[in-house]
Amino acid sequence: MGVDRGELDRRLERFRETARKAGVRLTHQRLEIFREVASSIEHPAVEAVFRAVQARISTVSLDTVYRTLWMLEDLGLITTLGPRRGVARFDANLRPHHHFVCIRCGLARDFENPAFDSLGVPGAVKQYGDVVNTRVEIRGVCRACSRGATGRTRPSVNRKPGQVRRTKLADQK
Ligand SMILES: [Zn+2]
Ligand SMILES: [Zn+2]
Repeated sequence: MGVDRGELDRRLERFRETARKAGVRLTHQRLEIFREVASSIEHPAVEAVFRAVQARISTVSLDTVYRTLWMLEDLGLITTLGPRRGVARFDANLRPHHHFVCIRCGLARDFENPAFDSLGVPGAVKQYGDVVNTRVEIRGVCRACSRGATGRTRPSVNRKPGQVRRTKLADQK
């Protein structure tokens, strides 16, 4: 919901092309799982995708949805918000700060940077609500994962280490 028809078509077309180039079989289940995420502006979690797809394909399993979503992420067709592992993360650091997050193991470390603290908030953000603070999330691969000591050993496709993304969080008052 919320994604216009033309954009959804482009996403589905990119999915078909990427899957074909990567030699990934275009099954009905995979297509429906991708369509669910591609047509939503909700950034749904695994359970929400599962429930929606299950309403159309009663035989789909949660495990299939889970594995398919990570496969789509490996193919560079979808990305994740926040750390890879776990749903909720807790942070006792109440000072203004930003995060380095490892895209493989979920390691999250704080850093401080006055320039990031004073980033202006784009006007477009106002439509979603009031801003409490601005946080920059730098995504990358931590030293341990770079050495292959921890995390997934599976090589990933189209990964962009060091990708910078800005998130607005309202989790600190
Ligand atoms: Zn790591
Ligand atoms: Zn933190």
